[in-house]
Amino acid sequence: MNKQSSDIELLKLNIFNPDQLKIHSLETFGTHDGPGIRMVVFVQGCQFKCLYCQNPDSIDVKGGTFIKIEELVQKAVRQKNYFGAAGGVTVSGGEPLLQRNKLIHFFKLLHEQGINTCLDTNGRLNNHEAQELFDHTDILLLDVKHINDDIHRKLTGLTNKNTLEVAAYRESTGKTMWLRYVLVPEWTDQPEYLEEWANYFSNYKTVERVEIIPFHQLGAHKWEGLNRPYLLKDALPPTTESKAAAFKIFSKYFKNVVLK
Ligand code: SF4
Repeated sequence: MNKQSSDIELLKLNIFNPDQLKIHSLETFGTHDGPGIRMVVFVQGCQFKCLYCQNPDSIDVKGGTFIKIEELVQKAVRQKNYFGAAGGVTVSGGEPLLQRNKLIHFFKLLHEQGINTCLDTNGRLNNHEAQELFDHTDILLLDVKHINDDIHRKLTGLTNKNTLEVAAYRESTGKTMWLRYVLVPEWTDQPEYLEEWANYFSNYKTVERVEIIPFHQLGAHKWEGLNRPYLLKDALPPTTESKAAAFKIFSKYFKNVVLK
């Protein structure tokens, strides 16, 4: 898709069906994206093109289906007893910031019901609307995919500048953030960059937890289904040694590091 047609699709996403979110899928008892038991809403559309993406079918904004925000709130309210004290609703993707205005509304409605909100984002945007959404987010799950901008661009197609700005904004608000890092052999496992990444955030007071997410190939078949070249098709998951090395480096800088 060229830039112009992609901009038109983005406009359509947000102007049409203002009371509906475009989603890829829903998970009712998620335990991987934020604390406790959560309803996880995977939205459709993403402007990154990560080489290692295991949900490439969630990238195209033209895909997915619309669902009424009110219906999602009702589903969450019905599940509220299962959420317990820690759980709630997470919006992941795809990339949630593409539908930021709708999500501000969604999160406000969830808060009215006393439901905790998490946003799992690549932090591509840090404008006024994005910041308003972050302010309505109880825990921001921020994916910082590489600290070196040249490698970040090769890995995702875009700069890490905005993501780092989002982190700085979150820090300025004093609200909780979890950092996430996908460990991909030969792409994100260089010890010098792991040190630089961890050192960059080491003084952040809002970082409550750091998650290392080992690369896997569970979504490889989706690339074939989309008939798109998958450059990491032969890549292996990180070894036990490589995961331990990343864990050791991050643990020098953060108290709460979790290897997923
Ligand atoms: S940000 Fe997430 S959904 Fe978007 S391309 Fe990267 S891995 Fe895939």
